[in-house]
Amino acid sequence: MSLAASPAVSTTMSAAPGVAADADVPAAIARARVAQRAWQALGVDARARLIERFRQALYERRAEVAELIARENGKPASEATMTEVATSLDLARFYLRLAPDLLAPRRLTSATLALWRKRITIAQEPHGVVAVISPWNYPFMLPAGVVVPALLAGNAVVLKPSELTPSCGALLAELLHAAGVPTDVLQVLQGDGAVGAALVQSDIDKVFFTGSVATGRKVGHACAERFIPCALELGGSDPAIVCDDADVEHAASGITWGRFSNGGQTCVAPKRVYVAATVYDRFVAAMQQRVQSLQLKGAGTASFDVGPLIQPSQSTTLAAQGDDATARGARAWRAAGTHPEGVFPPTLLLDVPPAARALCEETFGPLLPIVRVRDDAEAIALANSTPFGLSASVWSRNRARARAIAAQLQAGTVVINDVTLVAGIAEVPHGGMKASGAGRAHGAMGLEECVRTRTVVDDLFTSWRQAWWFGYGADSAARGDAYVRLAHGPSILARLSGVSKTLQLLFRPERPI
Ligand code: NAD
Repeated sequence: MSLAASPAVSTTMSAAPGVAADADVPAAIARARVAQRAWQALGVDARARLIERFRQALYERRAEVAELIARENGKPASEATMTEVATSLDLARFYLRLAPDLLAPRRLTSATLALWRKRITIAQEPHGVVAVISPWNYPFMLPAGVVVPALLAGNAVVLKPSELTPSCGALLAELLHAAGVPTDVLQVLQGDGAVGAALVQSDIDKVFFTGSVATGRKVGHACAERFIPCALELGGSDPAIVCDDADVEHAASGITWGRFSNGGQTCVAPKRVYVAATVYDRFVAAMQQRVQSLQLKGAGTASFDVGPLIQPSQSTTLAAQGDDATARGARAWRAAGTHPEGVFPPTLLLDVPPAARALCEETFGPLLPIVRVRDDAEAIALANSTPFGLSASVWSRNRARARAIAAQLQAGTVVINDVTLVAGIAEVPHGGMKASGAGRAHGAMGLEECVRTRTVVDDLFTSWRQAWWFGYGADSAARGDAYVRLAHGPSILARLSGVSKTLQLLFRPERPI
């Protein structure tokens, strides 16, 4: 059968907030640059008070936020509450607790003997004006998880939400503005890729991009041209490995949720399953049972599990990926019965050969290839065989075995006996390897991405010459060697032999040459 479904329906329902033109970008950056100075000068404690007000407002308006996400993105409101609103609240609380310490200047002294006079201060400074470009699949949580730490760190932010979910970005900004964040410190530029491209090429200081590999590559090139840093959170094709000792029912429940929640449109969803041959048939049967019971939006039930794809073009791509697999000998399986118009029915691809597109490309929708493997080694090799490296999951009752497999997977995060949740743990740095991107969001590293260091190295003395300055003299080689003996000699005796000449090197009053 061809997997072509009835056309998917875009769920974008809110009136789009005003769309920016490329020409609006320079003026927005200029306003942000002026506003950023005062925002930085405010200090972290004052900024944190405003972010705390935002957190409280988000809690108060949580139902409204979840409803908007559901309307604009198409997922169930209950799912939006758990995966977006609750996670955004977690992230705000986490960064409010972390920021005062992490952003404080760090003072240190060097262990290098010749540097005993130096006093070193490493300040954590904001980049300045940063761009946050986000996708539509988690249209509130993903931008919130970058905008909040960027603001706490003292940056001004220009946010470009996805053109498919503009109202979610607008509501995030509205909540922050209402909490007291100045409108020029956080600006929203609505629009499509042209506005995003103009933003990346503008006088911006850093770009935080979340989206596809193809767009991320363009963003990375543009940033490299200007030597500005960027954090790239890109697509993935996350493998799930189901070992022969896994609780097959548990694995099927988790993988069904991971793959088919959010309409199958999650960056860290399991997108390929490698199952030990001895449990393959049981696992497939357990998956079929669960998929059969999923409620599709529009099928007449009060609540639903799986909504429509956000763009019709995704349906075409998914169907082509599925058809390619069946042309190569795979079997496609869908739940019996008719499917509501506009929804791509959850589809399992069974016994898929390795070269199939569904195993080599990202599949962004409810399509799941399941592959039979001989053993752990084959599963690991196949799991690592794509250009992607976002996250992965391992399912086994033997946690030591699962951890050993995890250590061999090329993935930014590996989850054992669970799936997908990595972007929802505030404390965990989220990001990929290989084509899945560079840089990290969330966790302490997510806040560190929002600052750059300015180090000041100060000297206790204002006029004693440094050990390595000119004035070498005839025995400078002997003094240098004495210094190395004292600093690194293998025994006390070797070190003591260097003391007297080293003292001459370290204590050199300034005198006219
Ligand atoms: P996309 O790359 O099409 O668009 C992402 C954003 O980039 C949008 O706001 C878009 O308008 C903008 N954009 C488009 N062209 C641009 C350009 N030339 N310069 C600058 N900005 C541009 O991605 P999408 O379809 O919105 O999102 C789905 C993809 O995002 C999937 O591949 C998914 O795996 C990935 N994703 C990754 C993560 C992660 O954390 N790694 C999270 C969510 C989604």
